[in-house]
Parts: sequence; structure tokens; C-alpha cells
Amino acid sequence: MSELTYKRILLKLSGEAFMGDSAGGIDGNTVLRLAEEVKQLCDIGVQVGLVIGGGNILRGSEVASDVMNRVTSDHMGMLATVINALAMQDSLESLGQDVRVMSALQINQVCESFKRRRAVRHFEKGRVVIFAAGTGNPFFTTDSAASLRGIEVEAELLIKATKVDGIYSEDPVKNPDATLYSRISFDEAIDQRLNVMDATALVLCRDHKLPLRVVNIFDKGAIKRLVMGDDIGTLVE
Ligand code: UDP
Repeated sequence: MSELTYKRILLKLSGEAFMGDSAGGIDGNTVLRLAEEVKQLCDIGVQVGLVIGGGNILRGSEVASDVMNRVTSDHMGMLATVINALAMQDSLESLGQDVRVMSALQINQVCESFKRRRAVRHFEKGRVVIFAAGTGNPFFTTDSAASLRGIEVEAELLIKATKVDGIYSEDPVKNPDATLYSRISFDEAIDQRLNVMDATALVLCRDHKLPLRVVNIFDKGAIKRLVMGDDIGTLVE
């Protein structure tokens, strides 16, 4: 087996990645396909942490209103990420992969609470760790949670799986001539507002030297090739 370029990674999946062709919710087969990608990584010895968004169910900013406080709606959004985490947990287990969900909010009947040292222990035992409920605080996103957890558990790489091949100069859906960057700096991504991750997440990664790769979620096996050293997607560092 070739050398692994990255031994411990943090993979951020948006909630939308769970929808398949539906307009929302969770498509079991889609989650299973993503779980298979994760299991491939574990099978070659990569320690995998996952942060899953909740946008397929609810985003706090979208439901906040005069009659719904933003803090409440963000709590709902964080609970949505727990729902997705549980779906992924069962898909991974159905493939024979050990996995633990650790939540930033205490829901002890449902999953463990996040404790950094325990998370690292899970990694050492070959378990996937799904970090649920974001940061546990309103007004943040799961992108920021992914940066935060990645830094805390000393992941060597943060991977953001998206619907496109990496970071473009413009939205490639709107402009097919947009340029795909193979490498940019965090400062460029922040200054040019390239819509990669929110600024909080990018600043955290920059300040704590956690490199970020943006890859296409639909490119089968891409993440495995990436951890084995292939230059895939866009590298931000
Ligand atoms: N959220 C939050 N704090 C966090 C992370 C998430 O309040 O630290 C809430 C927020 O309402 C957000 C929702 O959870 O809209 C779902 O997360 P996100 O929008 O990041 O999901 P994604 O777009 O990645 O699916």
C-alpha cells in the first residue's frame, strides 16, 4: 500500500449532500454511497472525522422571523445536523464500520457529548467520529464547526466536499468560463469572497494552519485519491 499523505482528516459534508434528487430530507441510498466513500478511507488507515450540515432539513437564518427567534431557529438547525449524523452513523455501521456521534449539545440518550480527548481516542481505535450539533452555539455554521473541530483534534487536512470541482473565480453554474483554481491562499479566498466557506471558518483555518481542500462530492473515489497524494480540487493554505 502506498504511503498516506494524510493520516487524520476532517471531512465537511453539507446537509444538501444527503438529499439525492429530492428537494430536501434524507435519501438513504445517497447517504449509503457517502458512507462507502468514508469507509474506503478507514480501510486504508485514515482516521476520519465528519461534520455534516443541516441544510437539507433546516437552516436557522432561513426560518428566523418576527415570531421565531434566531437563537431558537439555530438550535433547530443544530438539531437538524444531529439527525443527519444519526443517518450517517447507521449507514456506516451497516457497512461494518465503527463510528461514534459526538454532539456539541448534550443529548445523552441519543449520542455522546463532544470531548476532545475522547474523540482522539476514538480515532486511535479506528472509529469514525461524527461531530454533530455544529459548535453548539447559535450564529455559527457547520463550516466553522468543521474548522474548529479539525483544529481541536489536530486533523492534517480539512476537506470540504461540494457540488463542483473546487474553487472557481466565479460561480461556475452561472458562468461556464469561470477559472478553476488549483491553489489559493486563505487571504485570497477571504478577500475575494470566493464563497468557499464562511469567513469565520477560513480565518480559523488560516490562523491555525489547517489546510483546506475543496473537492467534488460526486467524483467517486476522489477523497481516497486525495489522501493518497493526488492533487485534486483546490488547495487553500
Ligand atoms: N448551526 C448553528 N451553530 C453552529 C452550526 C450550525 O446554529 O455552530 C445551525 C444554523 O442554524 C445552521 C444550521 O445549524 O443554518 C445548519 O448548519 P449549516 O447551515 O452550516 O448546514 P449546511 O449548509 O452545511 O448543510
